[in-house]
Amino acid sequence: MATPAEARVDLAAVRQNVALLKELAGGAEVMGAVKADAYGHGLVPTSEAVLQGGASRLGTAFISEALALRAGGVTAPILSWLITPGEPLDEALTHDVELSAADVRLLDEIAAAARRTGRTALMHLEADTGMSRGGSPLAAWPRLLARALELRAEGVIEIVGLWSHFACADIPGHPSIARQLEAYETALKLAEQAGAAGSHVIRHLSNSAAIVTLPEARYDLVRPGIAMYGLSPIPELGDFGLRQAMTLVARIGLVKRVAEGSGVSYGHLYTTERETTLGLVPIGYADGILRHATGRAEVLAGGRRRLVAGRVCMDQFMIDMGDDPLAAGDEVVLFGPGDGGEPTVQEWADTLGTITHEIVTRIGSRVPRVYGQ
Ligand SMILES: *Cc1c(COP(=O)(O)O)cnc(C)c1O
Repeated sequence: MATPAEARVDLAAVRQNVALLKELAGGAEVMGAVKADAYGHGLVPTSEAVLQGGASRLGTAFISEALALRAGGVTAPILSWLITPGEPLDEALTHDVELSAADVRLLDEIAAAARRTGRTALMHLEADTGMSRGGSPLAAWPRLLARALELRAEGVIEIVGLWSHFACADIPGHPSIARQLEAYETALKLAEQAGAAGSHVIRHLSNSAAIVTLPEARYDLVRPGIAMYGLSPIPELGDFGLRQAMTLVARIGLVKRVAEGSGVSYGHLYTTERETTLGLVPIGYADGILRHATGRAEVLAGGRRRLVAGRVCMDQFMIDMGDDPLAAGDEVVLFGPGDGGEPTVQEWADTLGTITHEIVTRIGSRVPRVYGQ
């Protein structure tokens, strides 16, 4: 390792997790959610592993992410589902990026791009079944369907998907789940009545949490994200046999002996209780090690857990190594799958009062991703 820190990504674990999810999904197709740089794991290499593991499609939030996949040589179908006015729709269409729309305004903007480029826009229409985030409210759904059918008749779009998203799939038994399923069925029925459904139209609703708990919500395709990276979508129910793919390591940059009563890092929030050895770990909040980890999170160094001693700084934090014989250059494991006693991403998330998604997606661009096959 020639850098202060690196994120090691176990692509075999990604492939294995996707294969497991595909099995769980029964006969449904798998669209791997690889937004946000494949949840911080590195977009192109991780997406290739996702496809090798059995996904037949990829999903991104933004068009820029879909175009980055195309630039990286990925040829699988890609859906981009979060589109803002003025985005490069022509480029998306010429690169065969499938697009989502939840209102007539965007649908018309996409249709104009299709006319300009001579490409048929492959559209997934999104219904809001109760999350009140993206998606068309059911009251506006018939209007959206009608416009989509007009544009289909004109030959500028094709309707390839009808989809929605759960708000509370990670809270098994939450009353909104059954209500959303019912609303989704209603949306499908309306589409069918309008002539916008059919055997070639893909129905999709499930994120990772729904895949592992709601067989009735699998439909034609599922959209796992977090579970592909080996992180549990419902930690209270265990790990579902998934294997964490990312291991975050740093190398100690400086080791020094300090006296009892030494205040450590900004604000002196940690004071040594006796003469001890401090180690400088060269990764900080600019790299995604939340400042909130100060005095809370642990790392593995020299075979033992050590608390983050004092403030996490922009580029570094300190650990108190006592009298242990650690040296500059020695590896510190911030998190990994847990095999060697290191904390897991789940433990970091629990300690910091957040979800694993936030821990892995925040690892910054200064930290190289290094791939293991
Ligand atoms: C992020 C995302 C997913 C994947 O969610 P996970 O909870 O990580 O499995 C699926 N669908 C959409 C629309 C998303 O935005």
